[in-house]
Amino acid sequence: MTSKETQRQILLTPGPLTTSASVKETMLRDWGSRDSAFIAITADIRSRLLALANASDTHRCALVQGSGTFAVEATLTTLLHRKDHHALLLINGAYGRRIQKICEIAGIKHSVYETAEDTPPDTSVIRAKLQDDGNITHVVAVHCETTSGILNPLREIAEVTTAENRKLIVDAMSSFGSLPIDLTMISAEAIIASANKCLEGVPGMGFALIENAVLTNSKSNASTLSLDLQDQIEYMDRTGQWRFTPPTHVVAALGKALEEHATEGGVTGRGKRYAENCQHLVDGLKNIGFELFLDENFQAPVIVTVRMPADPAFDFDRLYSLMNDEGIVLYPGAVTQEKSFRIGCIGQVYPEDMQRTLEAIRQALSKMGVSKPGLTP
Ligand SMILES: *Cc1c(COP(=O)(O)O)cnc(C)c1O
Repeated sequence: MTSKETQRQILLTPGPLTTSASVKETMLRDWGSRDSAFIAITADIRSRLLALANASDTHRCALVQGSGTFAVEATLTTLLHRKDHHALLLINGAYGRRIQKICEIAGIKHSVYETAEDTPPDTSVIRAKLQDDGNITHVVAVHCETTSGILNPLREIAEVTTAENRKLIVDAMSSFGSLPIDLTMISAEAIIASANKCLEGVPGMGFALIENAVLTNSKSNASTLSLDLQDQIEYMDRTGQWRFTPPTHVVAALGKALEEHATEGGVTGRGKRYAENCQHLVDGLKNIGFELFLDENFQAPVIVTVRMPADPAFDFDRLYSLMNDEGIVLYPGAVTQEKSFRIGCIGQVYPEDMQRTLEAIRQALSKMGVSKPGLTP
């Protein structure tokens, strides 16, 4: 048997990402949406998600069908009132730009503070913008901007937002469950994430933790029926059920994934493994001679952006396909500033998988005839 046949496929493309066999096995059963066991799973997920952010007393959990973007759009269109609110959007990548697009389509008033894709926002600039424009009611931030893997300074952003008496909404899609977010330490009106990133569930649903107080004010504000999270929460609280057909298999898988998350040591345990993965990857890539897009101080242990080598022998499509042959799926680049590719370090992957990845990259480079993949050949 060749190694190919024995090695499992890993997705370094978060997300979707690599999930455990036991999470996948949970999906072998069909669940009825009114089945009491299924209702119990839904309730358990909602309370576990709140507990992960230490928000059980202050927030309620809305679950929503669809990919992460559905959860972002649902949260913004439920909580941001077209008449009374104005959001300051902090942008340094594609997910921030996506939030801007959601606001444009929904007719939500907004201003933009954009920094380069390798640069976190400066809190003194945020403060000045909030002081200069009294119309701004909310700040919307992306915690880890997965476009590059940059970690934006959530605590500082939350502090300045609170100090200026504004509300904060956070897209924590690629950080929730692996980087600490404690809503007793920072104040946020909503935290948004999905099943299929650091929680290691399968794709198909997202969620938002929403401050109790704002929910009552948001009744009938939503511009869509299916994405009205106020209504979703109210209905779920009352009946235990989802308003519309739940993604039953996805829900069951997330229930299992959350158990495994707890067994691994919760946010701390999961974050530790991802940090180890990331360190292995960063060190190994630098050893091979690659240059990384981000300053290491800003690198979140989520996804690493590699600058495209200048050596004409280097061909990313070829690297992608050689790696794919080894069961390792890489991610194309997404930053707009320069050419790059990405390697994720989240999901059911371990430092051994990072070693295997680095070894496969070395072999692929030698097949392509690239001796040193730096930017100056
Ligand atoms: C993955 C992700 C999303 C959601 O993307 P989908 O493709 O809709 O799941 C949103 N924001 C960030 C920061 C993400 O990493």
